[in-house]
Amino acid sequence: MHKKPISLGIGFFILWQIKGKAGPIEEYIYEKKGVCCLLTALNKEGELFTLSGDMRNRVPQLRKHERFFCPVCKEPLILKAGHVRIPHFSHRHHSQCIETASEPESPRHLQGKLDLFEWCRSNQLAVSLEHYLSDIRQRPDLLVEKAGRQFAVEFQCTPISVQSVERRSLQYLSSGIIPIWIVGGQPFHKRRANDMFEMTEYLWSQTMRNNGQTMLAGYEPESGRGFLLTNITPYTSRKVFARLHQWPISKIKYPFPSFPARTNFPYKNWPDEKMNWIQQKVRYGNLMRDSFLRAVYMEGSNPFLLSPLIGLPVKYMESFISHPAEWQFFIWSDCLYMVI
Ligand SMILES: [Zn+2]
Repeated sequence: MHKKPISLGIGFFILWQIKGKAGPIEEYIYEKKGVCCLLTALNKEGELFTLSGDMRNRVPQLRKHERFFCPVCKEPLILKAGHVRIPHFSHRHHSQCIETASEPESPRHLQGKLDLFEWCRSNQLAVSLEHYLSDIRQRPDLLVEKAGRQFAVEFQCTPISVQSVERRSLQYLSSGIIPIWIVGGQPFHKRRANDMFEMTEYLWSQTMRNNGQTMLAGYEPESGRGFLLTNITPYTSRKVFARLHQWPISKIKYPFPSFPARTNFPYKNWPDEKMNWIQQKVRYGNLMRDSFLRAVYMEGSNPFLLSPLIGLPVKYMESFISHPAEWQFFIWSDCLYMVI
């Protein structure tokens, strides 16, 4: 059987597969075009003023006696109440402020931000709501400071592009700020069994790595419940093994309990899951466009009879978009076949 010599092709294949592409800031503004609500404004003394807790009951009085301004463009703001259920500030029509091109804020998003803000305060964390970071032109929902480190918390209720999530994360990291993404609602697309969930590429982009494992947090303002999906390990890029934890937000205390990486991944299911993946690939894959299938057939191999060393579940395999069988086949084909 003819074998290709060892090539750099595999390196490019891996680089292409690794997630993390960035784009221009204009795309961020375009994607987030909509109506913006603010919960934090400057008062006439130039101090930051947040519409949380008791302040929300004083809205009629504030509307009469106070004036508020945008922390970004300094334009006067309108204090609205009753339009959506949560009192908020809004720019006037035709404002040129960059913040008017921000994400449309649903009552759910506003409520979630406020709940998370109050939670941080009740846990004695130094937190600011909608703090504008002028150097990177970002306005995280919450900016939390703890032990000299800063964390930008983004509560994301509506899906935005994966590129946008990655770009904003990189911008925070470039300023020494650690991004934390919290999805609105449950942190998975579908629950298929007790420990088996479906993820989307968008949800993957918001996962965090902590203590050697991959996690995703969610918060549901309607029920006041916080969710944490831990030990996320993919069977495929969509289907994952994970553990779901949930609590009322009032019962979650800082510092968080630790969730050690457990070796409870159901390895005995893995060969069947791998075979399912190969079956789907052969049945629905396009031979012209599928580099994996094409390479397998070009080498005269049968996709169902590949070496059992191809497609092993390995640590950090979630860093690749493709299935381990796919990228491991190229390592096997380009390198290992020669030496084993
Ligand atoms: Zn403004």
